[in-house]
Amino acid sequence: MRIILLGAPGAGKGTVAELLTKRYGIPQISTGDMLRSAVNAGTELGRAAGGFMTRGELVPDDLILGIMEERLREKDCAKGFILDGFPRTLGQASSLGKMLGAMGISLDAIVNLEVPDEVLITRLASRRTCTNPECQAIYNVITWPSAREGICDRCGAPTAQRDDETEEAVKRRLATYGEKTAPLIDYYKNDPAFISVPSLKPEPAMDAIAALVSR
Ligand code: AMP
Repeated sequence: MRIILLGAPGAGKGTVAELLTKRYGIPQISTGDMLRSAVNAGTELGRAAGGFMTRGELVPDDLILGIMEERLREKDCAKGFILDGFPRTLGQASSLGKMLGAMGISLDAIVNLEVPDEVLITRLASRRTCTNPECQAIYNVITWPSAREGICDRCGAPTAQRDDETEEAVKRRLATYGEKTAPLIDYYKNDPAFISVPSLKPEPAMDAIAALVSR
């Protein structure tokens, strides 16, 4: 089963992806997580990508396409995958189409999560993330705080606000989303696997995906 999750930063792609991983046993592929791990590990990719990420800009397509091509060919993707945060530009979407075509596979669900901008800004600016690169658990100081303030429940490492989740950076990321990523909705809208769902909570998206994949 192959699923793409589309939606603005903070729309809940990560949350829906985690639920899908549990339900269908297929891996979540988050380009954001892969890039953050590369930045933390200080790899060449991380050094090239870090500045774009902190500024709330997209990392250039050629860097992303290189890592995705490799990732999709890994063994755990054989039964399917959930793409969370990729594609994010028309160029990435068209390259993904070619990659999947060459691999002889097609998409089962392309799901756009709809959340109003004001909700996205509040959600992201109140988010805290575990600083342990192996963990990266996510909390929210308003709706989902850790039991001890500033300490991850899962691994005990400190939690912190990501550089790209300050209010200023969030506004820039939303502008980037509007300019570069929102056009993907038009790109996919005539595909029979496409659906757009109001997503203040994850359940409507989960139900829509269940209906699409059982066609
Ligand atoms: P995310 O956690 O998915 O919001 O990603 C965090 C940051 O990583 C984004 O603001 C971008 O700078 C970068 N990034 C993640 N995925 C992509 C992508 N598919 N294309 C370009 N940049 C990306």
